[in-house]
Amino acid sequence: SDQRKFFVGGNWKMNGDKAGIDAIISFMKGPLSPNTEVAVGCPQCYLMYTREHLPENIGVAAQNCYKVSKGAFTGEISPAMIKDLGCKWVILGHSERRNVFNESDQLISEKVGHALEAGLKVIACIGEKLEEREGNRTEEVVFAQMKALLPNISDWSRVVIAYEPVWAIGTGKTASPEQAQDVHAKLRQWLRDNVNAQVADSTRIIYGGSVTPANCQELAKTGDIDGFLVGGASLKPDFVQIINARD
Ligand code: PEP
Repeated sequence: SDQRKFFVGGNWKMNGDKAGIDAIISFMKGPLSPNTEVAVGCPQCYLMYTREHLPENIGVAAQNCYKVSKGAFTGEISPAMIKDLGCKWVILGHSERRNVFNESDQLISEKVGHALEAGLKVIACIGEKLEEREGNRTEEVVFAQMKALLPNISDWSRVVIAYEPVWAIGTGKTASPEQAQDVHAKLRQWLRDNVNAQVADSTRIIYGGSVTPANCQELAKTGDIDGFLVGGASLKPDFVQIINARD
């Protein structure tokens, strides 16, 4: 839609070293479509290095943060720290945070709330597991995840929703354009019913799960997929082709 700038986020996960990041920075010279907003999610120890070496027009995201600004929380980082390094984004609620580190809907919601209050922009991730899809519970699961986020979202203009079916993440099993579009349309209707029409029309809902140069164009043609969150392919020059999927 004209109201929603195409958004492509990378998620490097726990990968890379300085030399690897230099290689990513080098292919990120593109050329990149001016019609796509881009941000890369980098490990917290490399946030400053990445921010200092990437051009300003590419956003840098942390992959997680805690729900308060400072204090006795050994091992955590706060949105204030992320901002202090010049980074403007954080990915929250990624399926690996939910499922490997047992983060609850409630904790993720509080993290999103605090990150927004602190002035960050948030890529908030949701998505169903395979057994939930197979049990026809996809809609119920993603609506419950949205409902948990809702009370803590103070500024929808700084939120991107990433719909990432867990069965599609890192598996090479991409959702078909029809499967993804179906969920995206339902999520947009959910926003219309539970927030308002303006938020429904303007909020980017991006798809994640084994996006590659081979499948990104078909996904990008659908009416309600406003971009991608890209894991594995964001470490490779393939990422540039995905950024340029609509060109
Ligand atoms: C992700 O990590 O959010 C992701 C979608 O990974 P991949 O693209 O590798 O499936």
